[in-house]
Amino acid sequence: MMKTDEKLIINGKRLDGRKPMDIREIEMKVGVIPNANGSAYVRFGKTTAFAAVYGPRELIPKHLQEPDKAILRCYYNMAPFSVSDRKRPGPDRRAVEISKVTKLAIEPALFLEEFPETTIDVYIDIIQADGSTRVTGINAASLALADAGIPMRDLIVALSGGKIDDTLIIDLCGKEDNYSEADIPIAFLPNTKEITLLQMDGRITPQEVKDTIRNILKAGEQVYKKQKEALKNRYK
Ligand code: ADP
Repeated sequence: MMKTDEKLIINGKRLDGRKPMDIREIEMKVGVIPNANGSAYVRFGKTTAFAAVYGPRELIPKHLQEPDKAILRCYYNMAPFSVSDRKRPGPDRRAVEISKVTKLAIEPALFLEEFPETTIDVYIDIIQADGSTRVTGINAASLALADAGIPMRDLIVALSGGKIDDTLIIDLCGKEDNYSEADIPIAFLPNTKEITLLQMDGRITPQEVKDTIRNILKAGEQVYKKQKEALKNRYK
């Protein structure tokens, strides 16, 4: 966590005018990549993600196959032009980590046992990064999987929380992310409130973590509603 003398909250308002519990403008669309079996576009403010799903399809080489279920592979990538200083292309440690936690966040929603010996491949590309890219990618993946017609227990809703200027907030933008006292991305299944991703970086009390989880479960309802609208709009 970097330090800044700049105030991130002035008169109760954040840098972009939001109140602590406000989410940025959300845009969601499915079926945006015709070549894929399922796809989605998700934008939270300036943070923009595309997700494409291929599968279930036969997994080659065969020795990677699971006899009783599909395997899920997730590939998170940030485009070189997604940040103002060019990001070095290709997978780095951060992308490997985010790909792994994305897979773990999504897996509990899927009935993988229905598709033995196959793979479901989820590609997430961040086109523009302004904080909270992993949760934006998970929302895009959720919609792309549903768009692909893959049977799911529920959609996966993801949102970031954190602490800046001693105040709990949700949906961190890039600057808030860089200078936050704490940063907590969360994903969950809205029907059961099962949490499938919970990471934490920074300094925060146990009570503040609990409050952040509660805030995100509540505000996540708005994200869930947007996801359902995007899926319905596909069939208008
Ligand atoms: P998340 O994007 O899920 O919040 P991080 O906390 O690792 O994950 O990243 C925070 C933010 O830092 C990103 O959303 C992005 O705006 C910025 N960032 C990450 N990697 C780079 C990079 N290589 N160059 C410039 N900015 C980056």
